[in-house]
Amino acid sequence: MPDFAIAVDLGGTNLRIAAVSTEGRMLEKIGVSTNSAGPHHVIDDMCDAIQRLSTKHRGYGSLIGAGIGIPGIIDLDAGVVRTSANLPGWENFPVRVEIEKRLGTRISLENDAKLAALGEQWLGAARGVDNMGMITLGTGIGGCIVLDGKIFHGMNGMAGEFGHITIEPEGVPCGCGNRGCAERYASATAVLRMAREAIAAGNAPQLAQAVNAEAEFGAKSIYELAMQGVKPAQQIFDRFGRALGIMLADIVNVLNLEMFVIGGGVSSAWDAFAPKMFEELRARSTIYAATTPPDVPTDGSVPAQRTGKQTIIARAQLGSDAGLFGGARLPQL
Ligand SMILES: [Zn+2]
Repeated sequence: MPDFAIAVDLGGTNLRIAAVSTEGRMLEKIGVSTNSAGPHHVIDDMCDAIQRLSTKHRGYGSLIGAGIGIPGIIDLDAGVVRTSANLPGWENFPVRVEIEKRLGTRISLENDAKLAALGEQWLGAARGVDNMGMITLGTGIGGCIVLDGKIFHGMNGMAGEFGHITIEPEGVPCGCGNRGCAERYASATAVLRMAREAIAAGNAPQLAQAVNAEAEFGAKSIYELAMQGVKPAQQIFDRFGRALGIMLADIVNVLNLEMFVIGGGVSSAWDAFAPKMFEELRARSTIYAATTPPDVPTDGSVPAQRTGKQTIIARAQLGSDAGLFGGARLPQL
């Protein structure tokens, strides 16, 4: 009989908790809004939900543990959140100790983008692929390296920061202190910045019109304009694709992994950025060109038959549940 694990996805606005069988079946998923009264209240809500789900699914098998995904930099040894832009007031909060105190069981913490990679490796695009990388396109760029089915952390958990690879030596300043980082050109934030610049330069009347007309003007609106053939919007996603292609060429050259999975909200703009991304990747990475036939599909699908040792660039398949599946995988490793 299979057992089950509990997964938690702690976001700045939503707290999601799931029970997932060790075979990868989603048994139940619940979501509440993240209590804004501070970490103690959020941990109370989280532990209540974990207890409710583990009692309810007890008949299914035994609970093997809980994996908790948190946005930000986590000190894995101490079980403490170091910094988190999405969770103000959580800096240096002893998350693991507080949860274990309430539940009486051992739990595992991990960065949320890294758990999404683990989920895709277990049940998504990279199912059956032991060595892979994941790139998460959101407000910034998240990254993760999975080796032999496990997250590669580096010395202190910071491995896989693909978003801060330099694309332009004298480029746009980044919050990390560098200039011209990949995420300054290939993220939701970057798309909006480039749109604002095009509008200010006075050569994007359709974008200016859309900003005034749409209350929720964002990267998605610019994507839709690009797909309608609006030139300045297309140029933004060309720039996006080029930056992503340069970044991918570097990581393909360094890591020579079997697969790189691209996920996150902005990956849904695939059709707009992928052509330039593949063009740049092929031109700049000798390893990609040597390991990928020119006629390979560029729609992000995973080839059913993998002939020889190819570098595959695939789209993520699990959507926002990837992190929950990763959280459930964590206690199994
Ligand atoms: Zn940076």
